[in-house]
Amino acid sequence: MPKVFCVANQKGGVGKTTTTVNLAAGLAQVGQRVLVIDLDPQGNATMGSGIDKRKLELSVYDVLLESASIAEAKQHSGKGGYDVLGANRELAGAEVELVGLERRSERLASALAAVEADYDFVLIDCPPSLSLLTLNGLCSAHGVIVPMQCEYFALEGLTDLVNTIKQVHANLNPKLQIIGLLRVMFDPRITLQQQVSEQLKSHFGDKVFDAVIPRNVRLAEAPSYGQPGVVFDPNARGAQAYVAFAEEMVGRAARLAS
Ligand code: ADP
Ligand code: MG
Repeated sequence: MPKVFCVANQKGGVGKTTTTVNLAAGLAQVGQRVLVIDLDPQGNATMGSGIDKRKLELSVYDVLLESASIAEAKQHSGKGGYDVLGANRELAGAEVELVGLERRSERLASALAAVEADYDFVLIDCPPSLSLLTLNGLCSAHGVIVPMQCEYFALEGLTDLVNTIKQVHANLNPKLQIIGLLRVMFDPRITLQQQVSEQLKSHFGDKVFDAVIPRNVRLAEAPSYGQPGVVFDPNARGAQAYVAFAEEMVGRAARLAS
């Protein structure tokens, strides 16, 4: 049984996709079998894994509408070492089409049941909204990884996400929990970031991951080469931080199981 994690935060540009693809590549490097599911119509996790979103024959859209299985629609990310269930603009239509259908928030969870034996980790890159797509992710997952920048409004922005997670936990998916908050694009020279980081630790305790991802230009350059930063430049500080995070996640996932 794989451990399934959503990478979610309703804000855009906070590092969800970067975290998804680099965690996937980091986990693959330590021998884990990983599936990335791109649930964002922008298709950034797809492109950042070296798969052309414009050339997808089948995508997560077909899986949500139950016209294809994950096994049929997934592809291998060449250099990343993991599989990808890709997405493109078509997925924006699924949002509308799903509304009228039954089990509309449980489509992804049902599809995942069929590939249970194939993976150790499934990572779901969520769109920047608390939409029906994100709901499908949350209904499939054991836990949520929340990347966040240590900025002034960081804590405030968390409230809606935490409330949504509580509601899904209470009504749809009792196994769902917040696994942790991941500090990303961190710059220790900025006093405010250090202060917010301390605040996060005092509010959320061990729900804050030990790994801290620095702001690192190599991580930002990697997607244009269709590679996760971890593969593109393994010696960069950002890449090394994501590998450390992958190791931490292996530990957290093991504790979930017990
Ligand atoms: P989201 O998926 O939440 O919208 P992204 O992962 O796409 O966010 O990140 C937003 C932008 O910030 C992208 O251009 C990405 O390359 C860049 N970025 C993400 N993490 C880092 C980092 N640690 N250092 C530098 N740039 C980063
Ligand atoms: Mg994204």
